[in-house]
Amino acid sequence: MSVFTHREFDNHQQIAFFNDKKTGLKSIIAVHNTNLGPALGGCRMWPYGTEGEALTDVLRLSKGMTYKSALANLKLGGGKAVIIGDPRTEKSEDLLYAMGDFIEGLGGRYITAEDSGTSVADILKMGQRTGYVSGVDKASDHGGDPSPSTAYGVFVSLREAVAYKLKRTNLEGLKVAIQGLGNVGYRLAEYLHKAGAELYVTDIVQANVDRAVKELNAIAVAGDKIFSLDVDVFAPCALGAAINDQSIEQLKVSIVAGAANNQLATPIHGQILHDRGVLYAPDYVVNAGGIIDVYYQRKMLSADYSAANYSTDLSTKVEGIGTTLREIFVRSDAENTPTFVIADRVAEERFNGGNNLRQPAKPNDPAVAQSCSKSV
Ligand code: NAD
Repeated sequence: MSVFTHREFDNHQQIAFFNDKKTGLKSIIAVHNTNLGPALGGCRMWPYGTEGEALTDVLRLSKGMTYKSALANLKLGGGKAVIIGDPRTEKSEDLLYAMGDFIEGLGGRYITAEDSGTSVADILKMGQRTGYVSGVDKASDHGGDPSPSTAYGVFVSLREAVAYKLKRTNLEGLKVAIQGLGNVGYRLAEYLHKAGAELYVTDIVQANVDRAVKELNAIAVAGDKIFSLDVDVFAPCALGAAINDQSIEQLKVSIVAGAANNQLATPIHGQILHDRGVLYAPDYVVNAGGIIDVYYQRKMLSADYSAANYSTDLSTKVEGIGTTLREIFVRSDAENTPTFVIADRVAEERFNGGNNLRQPAKPNDPAVAQSCSKSV
């Protein structure tokens, strides 16, 4: 297994391998970049088939966090942790304590959070051994769930994309197809309904669809038919890879803007959207409201931050997603380059600061000593 020459290595600053014989813990923590602040990202527990698969996953995910936080204009770097094992059968209290000890050993370069296979309760266990954990902050006005902010960020993004591509600021009568009416998708639907948009919705849970039909006058659509509708916007808010070989041939929309992570099955699909004149709002720019939310939840706990500023600061920063998106759209047109490529460039300019000088992380800054839930 190669590390420095791994295809996902991408100049990671640090990769730490941990082994604890007593508890059976085998973990990898990847710190991609700390130029803007401590590396923040979730801890995933998964029964990886091989160590190579675990390494590939942690490298890819930690890099993604650097880009997401930089584009959200947060003073955070990117990192991620994986525990190799089945969370249903191999997780124990002692293993979580051992994981906390390992995180503590990194001295604040990496701050953990829940992710697939770990829960808030697990992170709290790790937190008994290290302060470098994140959790759900009950002090916030919405109980710590970042989904409302994510949904607001998606709405802001969609509005920006419509203004840019369709030259309209009023969403009255805009036709939007939403795939997935969960924590984010349903709230997005509510924002859009309030703004006068016409909604077409699908979800594998019928109750979610029925609710949208009843409360938001949405039109129910069966499964994959959501791709082929003659509407203005497609908003993927379910799983990744919604834009794939099959769906891309059916799309008639002008804009793709939604919450789901990793919407493009491959970069080729992003290039195809660009070539066909479909404006793609890059997913990790659009869905950054959640990480912005948890950043401010924590900032609120810091002694030198006034809680009175919280709501305004949070919404200003989430609305800033729109400004970043416009910059990406303008450059994409000027350089005739897909938006997802430009987004990466903008992020790199921000975290490399043009000079690639590394700034030391401030591990004891409580504003960043906690993080996001699994999906932010
Ligand atoms: P969720 O699990 O609450 O909602 C997902 C919804 O999609 C569910 O209602 C589910 O039934 C539905 N769904 C699943 N497969 C489907 C399919 N094939 N067709 C139609 N519907 C399907 O998740 P969420 O928190 O709303 O997140 C939605 C997406 O946004 C995810 O990809 C997530 O990773 C991403 N995201 C979420 C947040 C956040 O703050 N919650 C932040 C960043 C990114």
